[in-house]
Amino acid sequence: MIRVGMGFDVHRFEAGRKLILGGVEIPHERGLAGHSDADVLAHAVCDAILGAAALGDIGQHFPDTDPRWRGADSMIFLREAVALAAAQGLRPNNVDAVVVAERPRLAPHLGRMRARLAEALGLGEGAVSVKATTSERLGFTGREEGIAAQAVCTLRAGPS
Ligand code: MG
Repeated sequence: MIRVGMGFDVHRFEAGRKLILGGVEIPHERGLAGHSDADVLAHAVCDAILGAAALGDIGQHFPDTDPRWRGADSMIFLREAVALAAAQGLRPNNVDAVVVAERPRLAPHLGRMRARLAEALGLGEGAVSVKATTSERLGFTGREEGIAAQAVCTLRAGPS
């Protein structure tokens, strides 16, 4: 039995913040705005896990009105989503994700993002894929107003 979930997230750029993607700090002149560390990739993966388990969404479990999550490391959300799925007898099987950003160039960092996500999800790196693309200068990502991420995740029955 395999269940699939999808996640999508967007965060706008904000000066004076660190850029964190997939749990990795990426050198850039700006970071992303958000209540937590604004890790748009981790948030999309988190929503994919919650979606596959039909457990709602990240905003429901980790509301941005909760001071506990102020500046939070989004790897915490991933670990918690995995624990919530495990309580339903489901565990991550694989993840595939794509980050849409005009800049910075993400290719040099994809391996580290993959490793951090795999660790948080309790998966081998062979079960986690992270890709990056631009949007050909079109739309809000193309104008460098923000970064978007999409993810799909499959869960299977079994102990984590
Ligand atoms: Mg988010």
